[in-house]
Amino acid sequence: MLQVKNVTFGYSKTKVLKAIDFTVKAGENLAIIGESGSGKSTLLKLIYGEYDLKQGQIFWKDEEILGPKYNLVVGYDFMKYVTQEFDLMPVTTVEENIGKHLSRFYPEEKQRRTDELIKVVELEAFANTKVKLLSGGQKQRVAIARALAKQPEILLLDEPFSHIDNFKKQSLRRSIFKYLKQKNIACVVATHDKNDVLGFADQLLVIHNAEIIVKDTPQNIYKNPKLPLIASFFGEFNVIEPYGIVYANQLKIVEESDLKALVKRSYFNGSSWLIEAEYNSESIFITHDIRLEKGTTIYLSISS
Ligand code: ADP
Ligand code: MG
Repeated sequence: MLQVKNVTFGYSKTKVLKAIDFTVKAGENLAIIGESGSGKSTLLKLIYGEYDLKQGQIFWKDEEILGPKYNLVVGYDFMKYVTQEFDLMPVTTVEENIGKHLSRFYPEEKQRRTDELIKVVELEAFANTKVKLLSGGQKQRVAIARALAKQPEILLLDEPFSHIDNFKKQSLRRSIFKYLKQKNIACVVATHDKNDVLGFADQLLVIHNAEIIVKDTPQNIYKNPKLPLIASFFGEFNVIEPYGIVYANQLKIVEESDLKALVKRSYFNGSSWLIEAEYNSESIFITHDIRLEKGTTIYLSISS
């Protein structure tokens, strides 16, 4: 189990993180979300032991994670960290990069393991390609596979799919997170993409103004977003008094109701349309099956 206990940290006098406290069990997937600059990457670096802590402690099982003051080499065997930069060896192949830290005294095992991981990150066609010839997204996948090579007990991922195009993203996410569950590898993912979280994270932690403002399952946080900031992470939403935060897909167009609005514009959204309408001289957004003409009067009800 990972234990982050009351950690407060700043690079200078300004605190980037305050009184951060949470745990992650073996095999559990924890997602950390927050705006850019909210301290997500800093938190991962602290868990990895890149900085010395002045306040608070971090443990994996019984072992305290210590910073560079106590460790000549940063990092532990049981923990791997895929940074936003992913530093790979550019002139060697995908296969060699992934197998780099595997023992060459067991060539068959090394090959089997490398092949398995190349499959997990869906890079079979590039096994023998030099890394410098890959796209940003492909490099990111090599970095993830390499981090998994020696089967860590906990994996830290910093915006792991940010460079990967939408054609590949969903299947890759499923493949990697499924693999982590199968091998019971705990995982902490920093992200600002809801698709990295929904369907995969066991717990979600929201950081805002240097503090954890919510910690719960993605389902509970979605159902009861305490702040517009949290709702905005999940999608289009409105603040309609006296109801509070109402997602666009909670608004239904009905025959007659007290909520009367005037259509301003329809945006195509793939499986649905997003209707912008005027209500109490403000814009509200409604998810709807079909396009509506500007000037149409609509009546709305709110579903739970
Ligand atoms: P996030 O990953 O959520 O975007 P970061 O953890 O990278 O946020 O940054 C949090 C804050 O710490 C930001 O204000 C950033 O400018 C600052 N910061 C990050 N790294 C350093 C550093 N090495 N030295 C000084 N300030 C830093
Ligand atoms: Mg970051």
